[in-house]
Amino acid sequence: MVDLYRFKQFDDHAECIHAVTTKIAQEPFSFSLALHTGEDRASIIANRKKVSSLLDINDTLHFVVANQTHSDHIKVITKEETKGWEDPEDAVADCDALITDRKGVVLTVLTADCVPVLLYDKKKKIVAAVHAGWKGTKEKIVVKTVKKMIDVFKSEPSDIIAGIAPSIGQCCYEVGEDVAKYFFDMPKAFHQNKEKYMLDLPYINQQQLLEAGVKEEHIEMSGICTACESERFFSYRKEQGCSGRFMSLIGLNPDYALEITERYANHCTVATYGETIDAPTGAP
Ligand SMILES: [Zn+2]
Repeated sequence: MVDLYRFKQFDDHAECIHAVTTKIAQEPFSFSLALHTGEDRASIIANRKKVSSLLDINDTLHFVVANQTHSDHIKVITKEETKGWEDPEDAVADCDALITDRKGVVLTVLTADCVPVLLYDKKKKIVAAVHAGWKGTKEKIVVKTVKKMIDVFKSEPSDIIAGIAPSIGQCCYEVGEDVAKYFFDMPKAFHQNKEKYMLDLPYINQQQLLEAGVKEEHIEMSGICTACESERFFSYRKEQGCSGRFMSLIGLNPDYALEITERYANHCTVATYGETIDAPTGAP
């Protein structure tokens, strides 16, 4: 049986598709969805097709996979186009956050301890998927992604709902001062244990979302530690360098007729964070 983790607040929006996959012992490679970690490609593609069928959408979906590099690079996907789904060579290069307004485009994040964050602007109908390990968290990739949604799509942070998916918790994430030092300005982000620090990446990402203007009641934390629950989720630490990855995904249901107003995105081109985008013609 396939078990998908879901966020309660996203389920209130029928036009928004989302899911977080789990480990399934009976499936090839425990239902890993990573094509970049050396497993048999055909088996992983079969697992991915199973995810697609589980979403129960009549129309064709375009899954977008990024080649995650622990960066703060953000891409806005402007075309209904599949990327990196059956061939890692055509994945979105060097990128850790994806945003789209396109119906039927499903944005994905692959993790095994890092923090996956799903965002949905329920008014403008914009989705985003973010991969935040300690490096991305240090770079405030979730803040930059919200900012990008504001810049490109005129999102209001108060319209954004966020889900912080299962990731390694403070209970299990021991780091040295070389990593902890970047978060010393947040006393609640870590517990010091002699020379070591127990770092709370989900908490830090929650705080960063608040800093970006997302309302506290709109941030849903899974509260699940991947290392504590390594039977259900892949954990790189707990499994001492496992190659399996689970997938967090979000998209706009193409079967659902969206009534969209104040949409400027059609005029935008694909841009990485930090690049300038031509002002949309006709926008105020
Ligand atoms: Zn734990």
